[in-house]
Amino acid sequence: MVKDRNSRIGIVGAGAAGLSCALYLADSGYRRVVVLEKDRRPGGKCRSWREGGRTWELGAVLATADCSETLGIMKRVGVEPWRLPPAGDVPNGDFADRGFHPLEKTQLSRFKHSELPGTFGELARGLAGALVPRNDGIGEDTFFWKDGVQELWGRVASGLEVRYGAQVRGISRGPAVIVATDSGEFEFDQLILTSPLDEAAVVMDSTDEEKSLLSRVRTLDCRVLVCRIGDFGMPSGFAPGRSRGPGAGSRGRPMIWQRRHAGVDLFTFYVLAESGESDSEIEANVRKDVEAVGGRFVETAASARWKYFPHVDTDALRDVFPPKLEALQGLRRVWFAGELMSFSTIERTVRYSRDLVDRFFA
Ligand SMILES: Cc1cc2nc3c(=O)[nH]c(=O)nc-3n(C[C@H](O)[C@H](O)[C@H](O)COP(=O)(O)OP(=O)(O)OC[C@H]3O[C@@H](n4cnc5c(N)ncnc54)[C@H](O)[C@@H]3O)c2cc1C
Repeated sequence: MVKDRNSRIGIVGAGAAGLSCALYLADSGYRRVVVLEKDRRPGGKCRSWREGGRTWELGAVLATADCSETLGIMKRVGVEPWRLPPAGDVPNGDFADRGFHPLEKTQLSRFKHSELPGTFGELARGLAGALVPRNDGIGEDTFFWKDGVQELWGRVASGLEVRYGAQVRGISRGPAVIVATDSGEFEFDQLILTSPLDEAAVVMDSTDEEKSLLSRVRTLDCRVLVCRIGDFGMPSGFAPGRSRGPGAGSRGRPMIWQRRHAGVDLFTFYVLAESGESDSEIEANVRKDVEAVGGRFVETAASARWKYFPHVDTDALRDVFPPKLEALQGLRRVWFAGELMSFSTIERTVRYSRDLVDRFFA
């Protein structure tokens, strides 16, 4: 337990986890909190791209059900949710183009299923079960961020002390925690890691236990492309088969696509790569699927590549990975938060930050 409100607390990472931790620590009276971020902007996987006064998401897209903690932070910084219509409504064209909705209402009926290649054929064949994303508890509470989700974290960060361009290169723990970064050295009484924990373990004076535990973390190679496409009659949709297990034969092909703004010829494509495909190979796959249904691929206007969904395999779970990691909390002044500790959604990540502060710092 940390009780001294004068403690110097460092947080690595200005994503949802790091910034929410800093906010909750400030609420608890801590005044010497510094967030170290390697990028020049806040948000981490909450990253938005802007063109012509509109935004597209390159990372997190929507808030899932029961987002009370995220909504609480949004209210504090004056960001309104951008809501879907109530469940059961038939989305009008304008709305449907902005978000996901049951695929029966897409224009798939315009095509004969047998004519549809790749993603779209698979989509059509799987149509009966493929409702997006009103299934799985993602329903009426679902909302987006009109100005982009990065705006939310930009507003949160503006009230906190965040050092950008401060990639952490080394962490050594003694009477204080010494953090070496590209922007100089920092000394803290406590350090909270929200950057990828497997990478942090490599630059930290980790114990054998920390090293062996955190080397079990795995991620998926996720690519997001915002592409300019002419004559594309396909609204937002989802190909469930493409999100499943490695070697499914459909990796590296678009899994979800979204038209966020009606009348704007920019579409977001989500792709899980098999392993290491180049950006141009992924773009070629998108182009192939688009052209197969008569679309005219113009360019990739923006893109991002993510180490997505940090997790461990079932062997590690059987080996009680989560409690073992939790047992390391606070060891030699270092604490863990972020998506690996909870689940890869904004809400779960933020809730974990709240929980960490309540349990150990309040
Ligand atoms: C394509 C995609 C779509 C998603 N869709 C959704 C969605 O619709 N809804 C939803 O709720 N969630 C979604 N997620 C998940 C959600 O974005 C994440 O779970 C959440 O943003 C993770 O926050 P975090 O702070 O734990 O990690 P991150 O956002 O990864 O933040 C970690 C931060 O640490 C920084 N960092 C890394 N290394 C260092 C270093 N050495 N030194 C200093 N700083 C460092 C990084 O630059 C980053 O800013 C999506 C994610 C992706 C990639």
